[in-house]
Amino acid sequence: MKFERLRVTGFKSFCDTQEFKIEPGLTGVVGPNGCGKSNLVESLRWVMGESSFKAMRASGMDDVIFSGSGKRPSRNNAEVGILLDNSDRRAPAVFNDHETIEVTRRIERESGSTYRVNGREVRARDVQLLFADASTGARSPALVRQGQIGEIIAAKPQARRLILEEAAGISGLHSRRHEAELR
Ligand code: ATP
Ligand code: MG
Repeated sequence: MKFERLRVTGFKSFCDTQEFKIEPGLTGVVGPNGCGKSNLVESLRWVMGESSFKAMRASGMDDVIFSGSGKRPSRNNAEVGILLDNSDRRAPAVFNDHETIEVTRRIERESGSTYRVNGREVRARDVQLLFADASTGARSPALVRQGQIGEIIAAKPQARRLILEEAAGISGLHSRRHEAELR
């Protein structure tokens, strides 16, 4: 699976809909301090199922909704969509009959989030597993937060093992095993 396009509406500093085409290879985001680079990366983690508002540098999940600026009033919802190219057919079986997969997450103020895959409502867990199986996801080490390099260097062995397992692509298996054990 490949990321093709990220669409962000009302998420943090992005009041209106903005689309970002993701080309193959390395993607860089450049701009002055405070222009929204970290917000953009957070929108990607959010649509992949991040459940911790702290990881969004927020004090509640509603804080990811555009809160207004000098000229613009606040919004009551935010939506992020990620378009995936699944022509290599590596998505989990339930989604794998689609050539392209669009995952969206929408939050309404005081009502929480809903997730959709190609328009059909799914659980947060389904979205998290979709990305975990593709060795990416909200907590993936492929997305390096500001200050995270230092944290990895200082990490205890147990924590570093988790990072390596993610990188090796087996964390999806662990999540599935955990789910199976709960049943
Ligand atoms: P730096 O180069 O300093 O790391 P950055 O480009 O990563 O900067 P961000 O941290 O992504 O910048 O963006 C910070 C801006 O986003 C701040 O101006 C902040 O007010 C704005 N912001 C954060 N949350 C919201 C929100 N819910 N509504 C509106 N604006 C927001
Ligand atoms: Mg930043």
